[in-house]
Amino acid sequence: MIQFQYERAATTKAAVSALVNSSNAKFIAGGTNLVDLMKRNITAPTKLVDINQVPLKDIQQQNGKISIGALALNSRVAEHKLIIEKHPLLSQALNAGASPQIRNMATVGGNMMQRTRCHYFYDTALPCNKREPGSGCGALEGLNRMHAVFGTSEQCIAVHPSDMCVALVALDATVLVAGPKGERRIPFEEFHRLPGKQPEKDNTLQNNEMIVSVEIPDNAFSKNSHYMKVRDRASYAFALVSVAAALNMDGKIIKEARLAMGGVAHKPWRLKEAEKALIGKTASEETFRQAAEIAMQGAKAYKYNAFKLKLGPNVIVEALKNAADLV
Ligand code: SF4
Repeated sequence: MIQFQYERAATTKAAVSALVNSSNAKFIAGGTNLVDLMKRNITAPTKLVDINQVPLKDIQQQNGKISIGALALNSRVAEHKLIIEKHPLLSQALNAGASPQIRNMATVGGNMMQRTRCHYFYDTALPCNKREPGSGCGALEGLNRMHAVFGTSEQCIAVHPSDMCVALVALDATVLVAGPKGERRIPFEEFHRLPGKQPEKDNTLQNNEMIVSVEIPDNAFSKNSHYMKVRDRASYAFALVSVAAALNMDGKIIKEARLAMGGVAHKPWRLKEAEKALIGKTASEETFRQAAEIAMQGAKAYKYNAFKLKLGPNVIVEALKNAADLV
């Protein structure tokens, strides 16, 4: 580990200012991913700006939406009365992620900023375009069982590891960020990016910008939603495939639908065509199977992850059945 400066910021403005004019400075809050990355020499910031004292921990109802501060702990969000009542999908997704100890340290902003768990990314002896642009991708021809089937590029086939983000993209959340030029909002679906020719870039944050909060608009999905995660172990494992499913139903008729997948792409993967196919239909296994087929169109497997092409639609169907109370 190299030496680095350490600085504390008590306001959003001070935090953003602390990054300006410091090349390769990073924010630190819970540190559940960043400290690992530093210990393994994947990243070597010259300065850490500790933002734990910035007052961004509130979870509150505002006009037509719930705002969750970027520094709210994952465990607190999952257990918060407003979230359980209005967005149980998010609560379920958070509880499916990591271990209780990590959820007690990890923040909402940090969860969004966590990096892929691709083994080649974490092994500095092996090529990885995300860690070292231009060095190659060890996973393309290597052990790629955990890797993406949607939106890949020749440069990178990694997946985003978050469960929380899969629920947030399904819930049409918005990210409020602050930077030297002021605040702006980014639709959650546009916050994370596909690898393309720049796999080293995970998201669309600009230089020196900081996540302030995540906003979830009110919706009618609280009665019929389900987060389903399939993984190698019962806990503390990343998703092979996960699905966030939410329905707004009138009896058995689907009025609105939201679907997103995790463990399949470089970003939380929203399934808008499959959502459209569900609207106006009667909730049934057959309806859900048809939507799942549409959802998987365009998926491409690599040597060791072809099982995701079968697992994916099955998890979509099961998540939708649970959401619709058909189990
Ligand atoms: Fe690196 Fe991406 Fe290839 Fe993994 S899949 S080795 S993160 S470039």
